[in-house]
Parts: sequence; structure tokens; C-alpha cells
Amino acid sequence: MKIIGENEITVDASFAKEIQKHCGENVNLCYQCRKCAAGCPNRQFMDFTPTELMRYVQLGMFDEALKKNTAWFCVSCQTCTARCPQDIDIARVIDAIRMIADERRLVADAGNVRVLNRLWMIMLRFMGRMYEVGLVGTFNMVTGKPFNDMALGKKMILKGKLKFIPSIKMPFTMMKMFSRAKKIKERKKANS
Ligand code: SF4
Ligand code: SF4
Repeated sequence: MKIIGENEITVDASFAKEIQKHCGENVNLCYQCRKCAAGCPNRQFMDFTPTELMRYVQLGMFDEALKKNTAWFCVSCQTCTARCPQDIDIARVIDAIRMIADERRLVADAGNVRVLNRLWMIMLRFMGRMYEVGLVGTFNMVTGKPFNDMALGKKMILKGKLKFIPSIKMPFTMMKMFSRAKKIKERKKANS
């Protein structure tokens, strides 16, 4: 469908359908009340608000939704989900957007956030829980700044805010969960 006005916009409903297939959420229920944007703690770092992201999905504007940093700067705190009067699980929608961006191998304009995201998932998969010192250390090495935040990290370790020795919890259970999720995804892909 094309809306002709001052600017011509092409509306493509397939993006919203694809999101619904991934996570079961219907973004077309969003009526742009902005409650999600108003409560988002990371809003100031995003290219545009979660509300605008929802509109881009409704309009089928793939590039804007997938390549800008909003989805990648979301920390999955679920404040938006709790505030939405339409009961849309926005955090899940954002997860689905990230998955679709990965599937399409789209490079988002989000600095090293995707690298951090990937390392976080690897660590969680093999250790069963987060190991912050390992995550930051690996991230610094991968991004070529090995000594970044070292003084701050030292202070936090000394104050007991960070644990130098990782605590590994049920790694096999987590590995099983990841491989099960992968199988489900492959099955869904084969059936679509
Ligand atoms: S889940 Fe993401 S988009 Fe929603 S409020 Fe939290 S950081 Fe913002
Ligand atoms: S809170 Fe819900 S209805 Fe309101 S703008 Fe955000 S997604 Fe849309």
C-alpha cells in the first residue's frame, strides 16, 4: 500500500508478520501512545525511541528498524513491556528484530554493541551465568583496547562488586537449552 502525501511512504505489512512469526507479538496493536519511550532508561543513547521503532515495523521499514542502533542499545529491562497499555511485549519484539538482523547478516550502526552481545551469549552458553570480568576482558581484547576501564575494574573487584573467579552454574543445562533453541529455529525455518 502506498500513502501519498508530502513524502511518499510504502507500507509493507510483511515485516510485522515476520516479527509476529518470530515472537508471537502483534505490533499493529501499537497506537503510538509513547509510554514505552517515556520509560526507556536507554533512550538517550538510541537513534530513535522504541515507539518509533514500533512504527517502522508497522510500516515495514526494514532498513531503519534493523540497521539503526535502537534495537541494539536495548538492555531488555522490560520497562516498556510493563508499561504498554496494549500488552505488547516490546522487549520480545526487539529480540525478534535482532534475530532477523542476524539472519539477514545486516550490519547495524551500533558500534561494538553487537560484539558485546555475541560475547555475552557465548559466555552464558558455556558458563551458565554471566562472568563480568571475563566478558569485559574479552571485549576489550577483541575491540583492541586491552586496558580499557582497567582501573575501574580493579576498584570494583577490591570492593567486592565484581568477582575475579567465575562461578559456573549448570553449564550443561544451558548448553542443552541453546541447542534445543537452535533445533526449534531450524525446524521453524524448514516449515516456513
Ligand atoms: S526493554 Fe529495551 S526498549 Fe524497553 S525500556 Fe528496556 S531498554 Fe528500553
Ligand atoms: S507503549 Fe505500547 S501502545 Fe504505546 S507506543 Fe509503546 S508499543 Fe505502542
